[in-house]
Parts: sequence; C-alpha cells; structure tokens
Amino acid sequence: MEWTGLNELREKYLTFFESKGHLRLPSASLIPQGDKSLLLINAGMAPLKKYFTGELTPPRTRVTSCQKCIRTPDIERVGKTARHGTYFEMLGNFSFGDYFKREATAWAWEFCTKVMGMDTDKLYVSVYLDDDEAYDIWTKELGVAESHMVRLGKEDNFWEHGAGPCGPCSEIYYDRGPQYGCGKPDCKVGCDCDRYVEFWNLVFTQFENDGNNNYTRLKSCNIDTGMGLERLACIAQGVDNLFEVDTVQNIMRHIMRIAGVQYHENEKSDVSLRVITDHIRSTTFMIGDGVMPSNEGRGYVLRRLLRRAARHGRLLGIDRPFLSEVCATVIHENETAYPNLKEKQGFIENVIRNEEESFAKTIDSGLQLLSQMIENAGGGMLSGADAFMLSDTFGFPIDLTKEILEEKGMTVDEDAFTSLVAEQRARSRAARKDAGAEAWKNAGVVTKGLPKTEYAGEAAFDASGEVLTIIIDGERVEYAENGAEATLVLDRTAFYAESGGQVGDVGTITAGGAVFTVTNCTKTNDGVFLHAGKVTAGDGIAAGAAVTSAVDEARKRAIMRNHTAAHLLQAALRRVLGTHVEQAGQYVNEKAVRFDFTHFSAMTADELSAVEAAVNAEILRGEAVTKTEMPIDDAKKLGAMALFGEKYGDVVRVVCTGALSDADKFSVELCGGSHVDNTASLGLFKIVSESSVAAGVRRIEGVTGQGVLDVLNDNLSLMQRTAAVMKLGNVGELERRAASLMDELKQKDKEIEKLSAELSALKAGSAFGEAQTVGAVRLFTAVLDGTVTADALRGMVDSAKEKGDDVVVLVGGVNEKGTVSLAAACGKDAVKAGAHAGTLVREAAKIAGGAGGGKPDSAMAGAKEPAKLPDAIAAAADILSGMLK
Ligand SMILES: [Zn+2]
Ligand SMILES: [Zn+2]
Repeated sequence: MEWTGLNELREKYLTFFESKGHLRLPSASLIPQGDKSLLLINAGMAPLKKYFTGELTPPRTRVTSCQKCIRTPDIERVGKTARHGTYFEMLGNFSFGDYFKREATAWAWEFCTKVMGMDTDKLYVSVYLDDDEAYDIWTKELGVAESHMVRLGKEDNFWEHGAGPCGPCSEIYYDRGPQYGCGKPDCKVGCDCDRYVEFWNLVFTQFENDGNNNYTRLKSCNIDTGMGLERLACIAQGVDNLFEVDTVQNIMRHIMRIAGVQYHENEKSDVSLRVITDHIRSTTFMIGDGVMPSNEGRGYVLRRLLRRAARHGRLLGIDRPFLSEVCATVIHENETAYPNLKEKQGFIENVIRNEEESFAKTIDSGLQLLSQMIENAGGGMLSGADAFMLSDTFGFPIDLTKEILEEKGMTVDEDAFTSLVAEQRARSRAARKDAGAEAWKNAGVVTKGLPKTEYAGEAAFDASGEVLTIIIDGERVEYAENGAEATLVLDRTAFYAESGGQVGDVGTITAGGAVFTVTNCTKTNDGVFLHAGKVTAGDGIAAGAAVTSAVDEARKRAIMRNHTAAHLLQAALRRVLGTHVEQAGQYVNEKAVRFDFTHFSAMTADELSAVEAAVNAEILRGEAVTKTEMPIDDAKKLGAMALFGEKYGDVVRVVCTGALSDADKFSVELCGGSHVDNTASLGLFKIVSESSVAAGVRRIEGVTGQGVLDVLNDNLSLMQRTAAVMKLGNVGELERRAASLMDELKQKDKEIEKLSAELSALKAGSAFGEAQTVGAVRLFTAVLDGTVTADALRGMVDSAKEKGDDVVVLVGGVNEKGTVSLAAACGKDAVKAGAHAGTLVREAAKIAGGAGGGKPDSAMAGAKEPAKLPDAIAAAADILSGMLK
C-alpha cells in the first residue's frame, strides 16, 4: 500500500464513488439544519436523515460525501489517550432505494484492494449472525476467504434506533499485525486489543421495526456506509493514531514550536499537546460554520473546548494567547477541501483570539483561587457556590473545573451549582420582561390539525378571511363574547406574526358590528397565526364568522421602514467594516431597529458616520425594493445573505434593493419580513447608539422616518430649553455663550484661589502668638482652624519668615482630605544656628502619625491623625532646641 496524505485520501474516495454514479455532496454545516435532536453533526448520515425517512427527496438516489463531525461525550478523555478526538471526518456512500448489498460490498472491496492497494491477507470482514446473504456475497462473489470472515451479534453488527428502519451491518477490519495484538491465543476480529481495526461500516437498511421488535422487510432498501477518514489515513500512513496522521501532526508541530517541547518527551506534555491539537481543529471548524462562544448549547461546547485548550497551553508553559496562531495551520491543512475556512480566516482567528484574551485575563487568578479552594476543601467535594463563583467571575466552564478537580481526586456539588445557575437565569429573565413569549406554550397542541394561515403580505393592510377557531384559556371554543380575552385563528390574515426579529402586528378583526382588538400576533411552529386580544365592541365573535382583519397601518409602515433599514444597515456595515460582519440578531418594531452583528471593537465616530452616510445614500437614491420567491440555489448565486444556522426551504424569498438584474445591488437578503417598496420611503436613517452586547458582538440602534424627525425635534427642544435657562433669545447664540461662560468660570476659579490664599494669610497673621525664644532663634507656631490647603500653608510660613532672619515657623492644619498638612520655614540666621526646616517638620509629623521633610529653609509634611496635631505643634520648641548648635 502506498503512503497517501489525508487530503488525497478524501479525494480518492469521493472520485471513486463519483465514478460509480454517485453525486458528490459537500460536507454539511456542523450545525444541524432543521434537526433539533442534535447539537452538532456527529455522523456522516446525520445531515441526510430526511432523505432516509422519505421526508425530503434526495437530489440523486446515489450520493457520496465527506462529512465534518464533532463528538463531545468524551471531551475529558481527549488528550489522555491517543484514541479519542472530538473532530473527525466521515466518508460515506449512500443509496436511497437504489443499489443494495451486492454493489455496496463489491465497491467497498474494490476501493480497499484496487484503489488503496490493501493486501487481502490483511483484510477481515464481519457480518451479522444470520445475514447469509451478505456472507455469501463476500465469500462467493468477492472471494474473501472463509478464514477471514466473522459473524458478530446484534450489538456489533445490527444498526437500529428504536422503531423505524433498521438492518444488519457488515464491517471491514484491517490487521495491523501481531505486534499490536494482545498475544492471547483467541485474539481475533472483535478483540479489545489494537490488532484488528474496524475502519468501514456498511449498513444494509432492509427492515422496519414496529417498536416491538417485529421486523418486516422494507419495500425500498437503503445503503448507509461510514468510514472515518482519519482512521483510513492511519492505515494508509502506517501510523498508530490520529495524532500521527500528516495533517494533524503538522498542527501539533506548530504547537510544539510555540511551547518549545517535543512530542513523546514526557506523558504530561503529550496530554496537553493532544488536547490542544484536537480542540483547535474542532473549534476552527465550528467557528467556520458559525458557532459563537456562549454559555449554552453549541456555544458552550465551543467555549469549553477553547478554554480547555487555553488551560493546557498554560500547562505547557505558554504564557500568552496562542491558539489563534495555531488556527492558521489548521486552516492551511484543510483549505483545499474547505475553502470557506480560508475565506473566513480573519473572522475565525478574531473569535478565537477574543475568547482566549478574555479568558487570559482571569485564568491565572481563577486557577489560583481554585487551588486555594481545593486546599481549603481538603479533598472530597467542592461546594456549588465555589464552582459558581469560578464560572461567573472567572469564566471557568463547570466541566473544566470538574476536570481539574478530578486530577486531585475531588468532585463538585453539581446540583448546587446547577440551581445557582438557574437562579441567576431566572433573575436575568425577570429583568428582560419577555412579553407574550411564554403566553402560548401549548398553542401548538391546541391548534393541531389546523391549516397553515395564509398571510396576505405586506402590501395588504387589510384582508378578508374566516375565523377557524377561538382559543380561550388554552381550549378551543365556539364563541368569544364582548370583553372576553381570546386568541383567534383565521384562514387568511393581514397580520404579520412575530418572527425573524420583527414584532407582530396589532389592529382589529371585525365581524359585522363586533370588533376584536388584536394586541399581538404570533405563530406556532406549524405556521398557524395566533391573534391575541379582546372583543371590544359588539356582542361577540363566533367560529366560522366571515371577518376583516385590518392592521394598524401607520405602525406597520413604521415597522416596514425599520426592517428595510436593518438590511441597508447590514450591507453598509459589511462595506465599511468588512465581510466578517454577520448578523447576530435583530429586533425591529415601529420605534426603531436594533441590529446585532459580529465585530471586535467599538466603532469609531468616523466608521459610524460612514455607515450612516452609506445607508442614507441608498435611501436618497430611491431604489426599488424587490421581493422575489426563487429556488435557494438561485438565491445563493445572487449572493443573498443567509443567516448562520437558519433553516431555509427549497424556495426562499429574496429581498433586495434595486432590480434583480442589477449587477451591484446594495443589499440582497433572504427574508420573510415586511419591507417598503422603495428605499426613499425610509425618509432618513439615523444611528442613535452603538454598544457591546457580548464578546465580539456589537449592537447598533437606529431610527427612520418619523423616528429621525423625533430625534431632531428632541435635540432642538433640548437646545431651546437650554437657551432659555441661559436667558438667550435664540439657540444660535448657545455656543458663543457657553464658551464665554466657561471663560468666566475659569476666571472666577482663579479669583477664588487668590482670595482664599489671602484669607489664610490673614488668619495666619492672627494665628501666630508671641515668639518663643529658643537659643538664638525666635520660634513662631500655629494650629489653623477650618480646612487649609498645602499652598496656603506654604504661603503662610513664607510670609511669617519675613519677620526676620532669626525666625523659625511651624504651622499645621487639617486639609480637604481630612488629614494633617504641616509646613515649616527657617530664616538665614536660624539655619546658620543649626535650625533645619526639613528635620523640624518631619519630627513634628511623626507625632501625628506622618512623615515628610525637605530643605533646611522650607519643608512640608503630611500626617494621618488630626487629633494629635496640637501635640505635634507644641513639640516644636523641644525639637528645635535639640538641633541648635
Ligand atoms: Zn487481541
Ligand atoms: Zn430581514
């Protein structure tokens, strides 16, 4: 067998199955589309489930793919062994009611022996116990020796998932040689040791399980095969495990260079190298598919992996953020098969750097605190409160804390931790006030069986329809009387139901003389619109009544303006900031548009005005806003912006500014929301704020139309009121008046300063009593009342010094901080006689709990205890006599 690189192996496999009439599908996103049962794609067939169940029609009955996968149940074991990894790729060929066992086995055999050139002596095949059909194909048609065939039981060779389609499997094993074996005499395929590696699993879906293990043969049988790309690479490259495979090893080498360590040097650093190598692979791909770090769901998995990798970087002695550098190697090794990684390189690196930097700020203090907690706990269990503090304050995912504790043989009180997290969530939920979202938890059940509501579209502000049912207190009823709070379901409506970040419409539903006032409109997962409100006029409304639904038109038009503004804003942001900008959420109502997007720093004033100007230019250009339904592939060709992780059907609605045929449309988005017909309807657009929502996510709030006018009027009225306060006749004088006021204020400050110095000097004049004679000098002392400044003190001693060259002065007072300030000065002759202002003030300050000093003729000091100030000053004569000659 020839040594083959991982990237070439992938290509060989896909080309081979293309030559057998298969359609090559690109790897689906790691984020499951329209499948809430999965957090992340974990198998090659996972994105194809709906083709197998018949829910969707496959693009061809034979397809082949290489699928990115992430498995997370064993995260804490990754690194500790060389076997576990979170990221891998799965090769597969699939038949949807097309070929079956005969072709699947023959092609698998051809690929192994002819394309890969594997030695048939090394290959072993297992079949399900009583699957004689498969056994015969392998032995009689493909010539596999009976000594290389094994029959295995249900747990190994039968694929089944509760009720539904299921069937036997056949697995292909590679014999790596006796040196990998356990040496036991009964060592054979299925043994726990490393000798026989299973690398390809062929599933023959031929039965339907009714849920009670009664199997009936399916009319149309499917093939689903899976072969781990990394495992195949191990065989083709003659290496032991995934970390030795060429592309993976190159990633590890990059980490080794940064850390300055070698692999296989010592077990501890090997663990860290493997952890980082695996985690940087999975996180790079996750971010490339649009997962962002957060504390829930996939975002939590991503955060946990990044932080675990960051911690292992610390263990290797790397004391700076480094993962975003390694990410470049991951992208380089994978860009041929996954060009989107290269396109998003800057973005992916930014997300990683950002997350790493924010964790770096707290990781050291967190680790320190944790080791203290571990010490205090003295083994056993860490409290939930401690774990919560680590998570909340230091960003330690609970699983990371658990893992570090496990290394010390400890556990954590997870129940207490979970309830603390729940409490915190409840608090923030209460703070958010989520109107209406909880209102109809069981609406999907109550409305089951009702048809999808037909929405008349944004062009119609009213529509006629019929009441299909009325819901009161969660039950379907026939009639709602005047005053009753109820929810109406119509067959057709003019109301837009809250979705895609756009609020629901309000308005009225009328039947004859009865009026039902709608306060919100939402919809169930099945597309049934729920008009919530109250009968406000007439007798009441009955199921079956012919009605007219009419939305509040002024409000709806304002919402439409703001939704179109959201699209223009996104397009302008990508032009000004770069294509890393992706929508991270939006909220559009009649008042404003709130748009969240990925970006890593606060926007500058220049960027904000550039964005605002770009949006307004598009408004003033008066471009038509077109809304067109088309197949999703056509929409993608137009470059329509789709949302990460959003589910789209085959036919989508494209909203763009300008004609579809224009080459350089300003904005093209997939969107089901309500929009104006021409950008000019927006009037103007004004950004009112820009802020941070989460790491790497910014938020802009903006207004259009009447909203801009309101902002203008608010500002004008603020200026007018200010002008009135300043007694100005017109706002045009505001700036000049404000500038002159500031000047005046400055002048007055100066004057106040001067006056207070004069006042202090005056006080000082009267403060000094009679001079005391100490040796050949005259000593003047004073304790000042009230608050004094250091400057005033200095001024006082200087002027007192002028009484004569034989004078020594010491003054003290309490300053504006409430502590003591002291100043001393000595005349020329006094200095000659041995007096020293610095020593005097220092010794005096010591008495009041302070320190200081300075030159012989002038010095300052501070002290902390105002109560001792009189003592300090009274000691002056003694201190002075001690220093005189
Ligand atoms: Zn064995
Ligand atoms: Zn939209």
